[in-house]
Amino acid sequence: VPRASLTFPQGHSVKSLDFPVGLFINGEFVAGEGGKTIEVKAPSTGKVIAHVAEASVNDVDRAVDAAQKAYDTVWGERCPGHQRGKLLMKLADLIEEHKAELASVEALDNGKPYSMAYNGDISLAANCLRYYGGWADKEHGKVVEVDDSKLAITKHEPIGVVGQIIPWNFPFLMLAWKIGPALAMGNTVVMKTAETTPLSAFYACQLFAKVLPPGVLNILTGYGHVVGAAISSHMKILKVAFTGSTLVGRQIMKAAAQSNLKPVTLELGGKSPNIVFDDADLDQAASWGAFGLFFNAGQCCAAGSRLFVQESIYDRFLEKLTARVKSLPVGDPFAPNSFLGPATSEMQFDRISAHIQAGKDEGATLHLGGGRHGTQGYFLQPTIFTDVTPNMKIAQEEIFGPVLVVQKFKDEDDLVAKANDTIYGLASAVFSRDISRCLRIANKLQAGTVWINNWKLLSLHNQLETQMPFGGYKQSGIGRELGEYALHNYTAVKAIHINISAPNP
Ligand code: NAD
Repeated sequence: VPRASLTFPQGHSVKSLDFPVGLFINGEFVAGEGGKTIEVKAPSTGKVIAHVAEASVNDVDRAVDAAQKAYDTVWGERCPGHQRGKLLMKLADLIEEHKAELASVEALDNGKPYSMAYNGDISLAANCLRYYGGWADKEHGKVVEVDDSKLAITKHEPIGVVGQIIPWNFPFLMLAWKIGPALAMGNTVVMKTAETTPLSAFYACQLFAKVLPPGVLNILTGYGHVVGAAISSHMKILKVAFTGSTLVGRQIMKAAAQSNLKPVTLELGGKSPNIVFDDADLDQAASWGAFGLFFNAGQCCAAGSRLFVQESIYDRFLEKLTARVKSLPVGDPFAPNSFLGPATSEMQFDRISAHIQAGKDEGATLHLGGGRHGTQGYFLQPTIFTDVTPNMKIAQEEIFGPVLVVQKFKDEDDLVAKANDTIYGLASAVFSRDISRCLRIANKLQAGTVWINNWKLLSLHNQLETQMPFGGYKQSGIGRELGEYALHNYTAVKAIHINISAPNP
């Protein structure tokens, strides 16, 4: 079984870590079929930091068998909700105990600043598991009024073995969002992490092995077209959940339809509008606007990547925003002040760079940045394009990097038409001191989330926002994660009709 031996920069609180990076199947680390491995790089240097086991289609079968056995013997309805809840809470505690290690692995593997991984991703992941631990014994069925010859009840049962496929932008947090509701509701899981960022999940498998019965949670890494495709088309996997690109979301739905019609939840791309009216607190709006796009180096599905500014304040606001963006430090994830780390992979760096080139070619004005930052790794300068028109590629396509496109609007009607002119509908934000106006706009935006006078999906101050649902309108996805809403993705409703007095027909 391969191991990762990671060393961290001098002065960092965690010096080094050594842990198994085999496939986690039935509570044990095992080598992938044929001993194949995948190279993992640190995006801040471009250097190889580990070789992790690569799963095959047969490995997916092994994981599904383990998950099925666990479901039939120790989990699902064989393990009462309060007990499952206790285990999830124990996991949350263990994750908190290992927060520094997990955040260090995440910062090295994904490139996000250590402080954000520590206060954001890992803390929120623990919160998420604790929150769903609380739900584990509270998702009850109903007694339904029919007629007095019958007692009619519903039961909310687990589905069985579920498949989950996650991306690389919030590797550990996405794992928690997915396993929290699935395990709480009594399902067993076969998960595929992104092949570029598998390390935090593997580190955590050591913790999962201490708490969960073998087979309840199985974690593989491997390529999407092999392992992801095997999960989404597997006949014994009864539900699949995915976060990633709209392109792959479509393939997953197709595979689900062509195999066993498993239900699908999809958390996909976005091109979310961030709207600033002339009566907004412009300093606040500039600060949130910079955060909303440049957080996580722009690699957020909910990034506020299209900024709409009312004409009358355009120049004044652009000046404030530019100053704010210029103040965001780009650099080493382990430097204490870094706000933007690198793009997470060379491929993502190239995709973002191609979009920047497209913006220039289409005649938008490159207002700030536009190039590589530094000489090593995949860092990009924070970039702003102005004089953008709605039909340009940079105004329509998800860039998933530190590239903001700015457009003007006249009035509310003009704004709503422009803001909704996208195939996506994940998030949005409105800044104005007039709350009636904010709510009017909120009602008209085709988006799963509307932030008013803030842009906060993830709190970096360890507050819980796990209770609020998150998901997309239009081509940004199907279904909702987080909150009570996510429970419904992982339960099957059974209607039971009990005769108490009806005569035979
Ligand atoms: P992707 O959709 O290809 O990858 C996400 C996950 O899906 C990975 O685990 C990948 O291995 C897996 N996958 C790939 N092909 C698959 C298939 N055929 N069947 C099943 N699973 C498969 O995303 P990417 O190529 O890494 O990034 C491309 C773009 O996707 C980005 O530029 C960005 O626009 C978007 N993206 C969105 C999110 C999000 O949070 N919504 C996350 C990552 C990427």
